[in-house]
Amino acid sequence: MANKVIVIDPGHGGHDPGALGNGLRESDLTLRMSLKVRDQLNNDWTGHKVMMTRITDTNLTLNARTNFANSNNAAALISIHCNAFSQASANGFESFVYTNPTTASINFQNVVHDRLTQFYRNAGLTNRGKKRGNLHMVREARCPSILIENLFITNKEILRFNDKTFEDNVARLTAEGIATFLNLPRKSTPPNPTPPPVENNDMHHIKTRTAGFVTAADAKAGQKRKTWVEPNNYHIFRKFDGMINVTRTKDSPGSWINPGTITVPPPPNININSHVRVNNNAQKYVTGENIPSWVRGQVYTVHQLRNSNNEILLREIMSWIKRSDITLV
Ligand SMILES: [Zn+2]
Repeated sequence: MANKVIVIDPGHGGHDPGALGNGLRESDLTLRMSLKVRDQLNNDWTGHKVMMTRITDTNLTLNARTNFANSNNAAALISIHCNAFSQASANGFESFVYTNPTTASINFQNVVHDRLTQFYRNAGLTNRGKKRGNLHMVREARCPSILIENLFITNKEILRFNDKTFEDNVARLTAEGIATFLNLPRKSTPPNPTPPPVENNDMHHIKTRTAGFVTAADAKAGQKRKTWVEPNNYHIFRKFDGMINVTRTKDSPGSWINPGTITVPPPPNININSHVRVNNNAQKYVTGENIPSWVRGQVYTVHQLRNSNNEILLREIMSWIKRSDITLV
């Protein structure tokens, strides 16, 4: 039986970079992903022949792309894109068939879409749904055809593709969807199993109060700290780019931390009228006099600060004490 021709179309290319965002070009991402899907198909499946509309950063018209699929009697055509929107909050995965699709195209969409959304959902990403649209690639192809939009390049979520394992999983599942749709036989000796996409059974022990961030990128940059993560045992919700999302509630996102840094938080601000407790091991006032035992462990009001807040006048006893001898309460 003749091999089934699969045409993979990396969207955009050449002078048309597609959408831009997060320092990335859609045309680069679509090519990288498409080549990985091709490799996955060739590594794991038989009975097919993959044909690419482009394998370099070149430009093709939309007509050239569908003509290529039609003239090669493609059994299936997949056009791979990333999404974009004027508002950075837009996010998630979606797929398209033509507005008036064939049953075969609907089946094709179902098998690919379902695999990818299951993966994306596990990764905490949005399923925007199976859509229909009057798009050239799915309208003009004479074979079952779909167009997929792998996340928004205008949203930080696109940076998930910096994680090779993440990207490999998307490519593997896309290939598996195509192969399943075409009923391709799997190669008899599958390669090493791909590691599971999420690692949320792992625990992470935090020994020191650590800065917590909203995104892995912030954690990596050490900027825009949102919270402190207190010492405890945490579930690992996700790992990305060396950063870890730790959570007390399994399977729910928590805070991103940088496991490589031990963060010592700055001392809390002390202001006039703050309440402070004199430490039980405090020995001497700033003046050098002994601190009597009845002062230790008691709470006083800050009356005045000097010497970069390292010396504090306690209102009730009008004595100067060192910052290191008191604790903010
Ligand atoms: Zn596009």
